[in-house]
Amino acid sequence: MSRLLLDRVLAGVPNGETPLRHVRELPERSAASADWPSWVPADLRTALARCGVERPWRHQVEAATHARDGRHVVVATGTASGKSLAYQLPVLSALSEDRRATALYLSPTKALGADQLRAVRALDVEDVRPASFDGDTPMPERDWVRAHARWVFTNPDMLHRGILPAHARWASFFRRLTHVVVDECHGYRGVFGSHVALLLRRLRRVAAKYGADPVFVLASATVSDPATSASRLSGVPCVAVTDDASPRGARTVALWEPPLLPELAGENGAPVRRSAGAETARIMTDLVVEGARTLAFVRSRRGAELTALSARHALSEVDPSLPARVAAYRAGFLPEERRALEQSLADGRLLGVASTNALELGVDIAGLDAVVVAGYPGTLASFWQQAGRAGRAGDSALVVFVAQDNPLDTYLVHNPSAMLDKPVEATVIDPANPYVLAPQLACAAMEMPLTEKCLATFGGQAARRVVEDLTADGILRRRPTGWFWTSRERPHASVDIRGSGGEQVAVVEADSGRMLGTVDPGAAFTTVHPGAVYLHQGTSYVVDDLDLETGLAMVHREDPEWSTSPREQIDISVLSVEERTEHDDGVTVSLGEVAVTSHVVAYLRKLPSGQVLDQIPLDLPEQTLNTRAVWYTLTDDLLAEAGLTKHEIPGALHAAEHAAIGLLPLFATCDRWDIGGVSTALHPDTGEPTVFVHDGHPGGAGFADRAHAALIPWLTATRDAIEACECPSGCPSCVQSPKCGNGNEPLHKEGAIRVLTTVLDAVAVSSPESKAS
Ligand SMILES: [Zn+2]
Ligand SMILES: [Zn+2]
Repeated sequence: MSRLLLDRVLAGVPNGETPLRHVRELPERSAASADWPSWVPADLRTALARCGVERPWRHQVEAATHARDGRHVVVATGTASGKSLAYQLPVLSALSEDRRATALYLSPTKALGADQLRAVRALDVEDVRPASFDGDTPMPERDWVRAHARWVFTNPDMLHRGILPAHARWASFFRRLTHVVVDECHGYRGVFGSHVALLLRRLRRVAAKYGADPVFVLASATVSDPATSASRLSGVPCVAVTDDASPRGARTVALWEPPLLPELAGENGAPVRRSAGAETARIMTDLVVEGARTLAFVRSRRGAELTALSARHALSEVDPSLPARVAAYRAGFLPEERRALEQSLADGRLLGVASTNALELGVDIAGLDAVVVAGYPGTLASFWQQAGRAGRAGDSALVVFVAQDNPLDTYLVHNPSAMLDKPVEATVIDPANPYVLAPQLACAAMEMPLTEKCLATFGGQAARRVVEDLTADGILRRRPTGWFWTSRERPHASVDIRGSGGEQVAVVEADSGRMLGTVDPGAAFTTVHPGAVYLHQGTSYVVDDLDLETGLAMVHREDPEWSTSPREQIDISVLSVEERTEHDDGVTVSLGEVAVTSHVVAYLRKLPSGQVLDQIPLDLPEQTLNTRAVWYTLTDDLLAEAGLTKHEIPGALHAAEHAAIGLLPLFATCDRWDIGGVSTALHPDTGEPTVFVHDGHPGGAGFADRAHAALIPWLTATRDAIEACECPSGCPSCVQSPKCGNGNEPLHKEGAIRVLTTVLDAVAVSSPESKAS
């Protein structure tokens, strides 16, 4: 069936286009079920059978048994492999046996938590009284939850702001806490993940105060080395269960690259590809005509709506009954709307759904005929999670990955093994980041004074340094029994665990006073500077005023014919070098701390054709970010040997920097927008041509460190991506960047390949001589 579907889709490709880059057949996997462990109470078994679970799969029993025996465990298996049962079994068994025992469930999103709560309620196990406790829980109900619920469903934000600081009111809950479930734990990465790691240490410390030592059960998508990631996140050693024993149908995976459109020209005259969204709509149309139940994942909400709309339009020309069977889905749907959509897709009333990644978490859709993934979803774990919606046991299915116009997607469709044969990336967190540790330790000290012993829990030496700084600043006070929080006020509300970078800037319509949205303070100068055109749900506004003091950007409704793009000057200076490797031939690679100073100096007004109307100067202050970076230097002689003239060097380094930023998400679980770069033909601190790639968050989130550790595969992939692109001199698929502060100038595509080859040759052949300073 799946190969047949692919043939149908190929038959619909316009003449002269050859978008198919690779096809891979993934074989069927048969199921391995197991007996119910003897310790599962009969009532629970009956309840599960009533809800349709006749027998568990082997991995569910394996994980549940670890937890039952008191071992912290992470179950890391595919989509629809029944990870919920792996924690429901030990938790509900424990709650049935001891009528005073309690458990805590954490999920990164409210929607997922609500789904999991509903599933546990449906089991209706006597006396458990599962309940949610989050920002939406009404005040009167909160008292009831604290006093009576034995399984509390919440999220890290509420644990941080609502539960831990008020732990005395939760004393009876903590005293009996047997299990902590951390669902979708691969989602905790970067700054957010680092905060959650420290939050879980705070949780363990509070539980210990009341005499409890709960067992952690973590559920994860398939990631590489889940035991290490889970142990780092939870702070306790976890065993991993990875052998997925759920059945899965055979799948055909096709990698697809939309064609270049010769009639269009983009920035600096670069060629343009058909958009991934338009190509996806076309593919979905062909699949729906074949009667295949198809789910398309599109990266933006607007994109999902456009994809559904354009598929509907195309279908109306084939069969007037078909357009009604295609819908768009996005975050913000009510639970009932989601159920209805899942149901109609499951029973075939709906044939095509275009969705944002919102559907990825906590939605019960599996066994579809086809999944189309428009644009790399950021991690391999997400890709496989989305692809996992296709395929039923005994039946095969089609997965199409459609590349978006950026270097990472280009690389993947030209290097199928990077996508299909590689273990998914490890999640990156850095709980030792002082910018995360300081606010977390302040919160911890307010909850209970910090002692010498706690410092080990929070990371040893790194924690000690931070605590000493906090004490020197008068935020903590040292007494014989430990470090104390000195203020009356709780620090929690001002700690932003999602890492969005401090107080958000509110975008407000001046006439109506209506708040349209918020912008990260770090991004305010580039997105809502005076004169910027700001889009909100398809409506266009122009910014009148930006006031960072009050955190307000005032806008009015206006739809000018131009768009705006900021011009930014970025400087980087090296604060300290932690590692420096000198390779033969004069290439050096370093890792350390840097200060990145950015200054938005002007913006351009551009017509849709790309024509620049004018450049308007701005008077905005500089911003400085202290963070971590990896950088390499080359000598002028080496660049000359590589055939680059003086005049070509800046463009070559700049292009190499852009593409490297585009590829890093393949090696560190970050988003292209979480990192930045600077390249220069002569850097004052190194005295040489230098390319920097830096973390975008204060103190870093582990991305630069990861880039340094994976330097060779990362730069090799960068070079391969540029080489694979068929454009003549640079385009968004290879070296142009949507966030470039210099308007993607200068860029030298061929030169970037030479720079990267020179660096890689030196790093690969020389015997590295490491010097730490
Ligand atoms: Zn290109
Ligand atoms: Zn740039």
